[in-house]
Amino acid sequence: MFSGGPPVHLMWSNMFNPEKPRVKRPVEWKRIASLFRPYWKQEALVIVLILFGSLLGLIPPLCTLRLIDTAIPHGNFTSVCLYVACMMGAALLAGLLGVYQGYLNSLVGEGIVRDIRCSLVSHLHRMPLDFFTSTKTGEIMNRVSSDVDSIDNVVTGTMVTVVTNVFTITSTLITVFVLDWRLACLSVGIIPLMIIPIWPVGRKMYEIRKKTRQKRDEIESLTQETLSISGITLIKSFVREPYEKQRFYNVGSDLMDLEVKLAMVGRWFLMLITAMVTIGPAAVWLLGGWLAIQKAVTIGVVVTFTTLLNRLYGPASALAGVQVQIVSALAVFERIFEYLDMPEESSKTSGSLDLEQVMGKVEFRHVRFAYSENRTALNDISFKIEPGEMVAFVGPSGAGKTTITQLVPRFYDTEEGSVLVDGHDVKEWQLQSLRSHIGIVTQETYLFHDTIESNLRYARADATDEELVKAAQAASIHDFIVSLPEGYKTIVGERGHKLSGGERQRLAIARVLLKNPKILILDEATSSLDSVNEALIQQAFIPLMQGRTSLVIAHRLSTILAADKIFVIDKGKLVEGGTHADLLSLNGVYARLYRQQFRDPDPALLESNSSSLYT
Ligand code: ATP
Repeated sequence: MFSGGPPVHLMWSNMFNPEKPRVKRPVEWKRIASLFRPYWKQEALVIVLILFGSLLGLIPPLCTLRLIDTAIPHGNFTSVCLYVACMMGAALLAGLLGVYQGYLNSLVGEGIVRDIRCSLVSHLHRMPLDFFTSTKTGEIMNRVSSDVDSIDNVVTGTMVTVVTNVFTITSTLITVFVLDWRLACLSVGIIPLMIIPIWPVGRKMYEIRKKTRQKRDEIESLTQETLSISGITLIKSFVREPYEKQRFYNVGSDLMDLEVKLAMVGRWFLMLITAMVTIGPAAVWLLGGWLAIQKAVTIGVVVTFTTLLNRLYGPASALAGVQVQIVSALAVFERIFEYLDMPEESSKTSGSLDLEQVMGKVEFRHVRFAYSENRTALNDISFKIEPGEMVAFVGPSGAGKTTITQLVPRFYDTEEGSVLVDGHDVKEWQLQSLRSHIGIVTQETYLFHDTIESNLRYARADATDEELVKAAQAASIHDFIVSLPEGYKTIVGERGHKLSGGERQRLAIARVLLKNPKILILDEATSSLDSVNEALIQQAFIPLMQGRTSLVIAHRLSTILAADKIFVIDKGKLVEGGTHADLLSLNGVYARLYRQQFRDPDPALLESNSSSLYT
């Protein structure tokens, strides 16, 4: 039922192979346009405002015509005042409309940016784990922050530039043809000279802009990696500051070169266009001057014409520039759509099973799994864990213990065989429902840079204060929390680094207790905790495991001895299974590991736990 095609995570690995050239995507105009759809009312209003604005812009030159040709020659000062008042009024009104238009523009631009950013981030939240292990965090951050930000300029700037200039050109064209067709033909004939040279520039800019974005990804990744707590500790301990400085300088220089190239591309064409803005009216003066001498047109018409040409050539060169803007903006849209189109983890095979209560039975049937095509991590793994049982996974480093536990919440999909929870294949479950029954405490405890209270409530936002305290008490962390000056309101620092490793882990245990899952996955800390901390964590584990099925990656002898079953994993295979005593008597891998790791176990502990295993 679920077979056919590679598992989603393998698709991922292929997709994120940086060596593979990315397929060029066609421009998705419809999709870009759909981003504007929720804001069509505001957009329509902006267009109306632009239309009014460009019509108002015609009033001053037309008033000039009247002033020169009629009011002044006839010595009619009242008319002069009237035309001047019209010019002033039109300018003021156009300014006011411009302010409102600016407000609407930022409303739409920022709205679209918010929408894209939200859908991008929520899409990223639903991406499979493999995406995050294969992609640099800096690259993801760059797409979510600066790429999306740069869309704002495109959305607000480009749309307005296009509409404004198209209206301005149209209204001006009509006016100039009404005024004098000969001068109009000359003026219009000059426009293509300004637009055509800019077309190839756009393509070139697009290519460079794409490269600058990739460089920015690199810079962001470097910053992320070197300025994180772990990164900076590593730099300091290896005294690699000069090396990191050089590395940053090199990438920075690459970006600098690209930016300079970008600034310079098409400069010659732009120079030509700028020159045409001045040369155009000069040509009109030539023809207009001759026509005026022949008395074929009035001086007012020639002056008005040259004034109106600013409303023709300015917008025409702006429109030519817009093409460059649009083309380079497409590079940004492409990058954003590339992320949005990546398949979500549940998109392929997620089922519909949604159970509120589960017993907590876990079963693996002939499971085979590989992270990448040629690297099998698990091979033919089969076992059953009954509800409420505590199972310890032991084995050498890299054997596949963590991988086994990650298949239960379906962080990855099996290649062959199946993983069942309460008798149902995990692929039949709704992902959310399945994961709501599973709690995970890993060695690398992650806490948000927030208060202890908020970190605990992450498990259940509606937990009462009493429940919070109860969970913290059960995890042996309450006394520590209340001893802090700000108690539960204490900020834990970046990734919880203001707390000790043991304290972080006990907080994580309290968090899982609040979630109250039926199945528990526990990756015990291997780091040498001091004996007090170790005892506290041990104490915290007891209530955590009560009434739950626990899969523990065991590093502590006490856990191994207390386990109902021990599974020994070696090179991706389940090589032994049974109780501590069974496995010792087998004298195989487990017995060897046991002797290596716990050479001098406390005989009293061993005695009491071993005896409890047999009863
Ligand atoms: P340890 O006790 O050291 O944590 P483990 O038994 O939990 O080891 P796993 O983490 O399950 O081992 O790893 C099993 C194998 O899979 C290892 O060879 C490891 O290199 C590989 N591996 C783990 N995670 C990934 C990943 N995201 N991508 C590719 N290979 C991976």
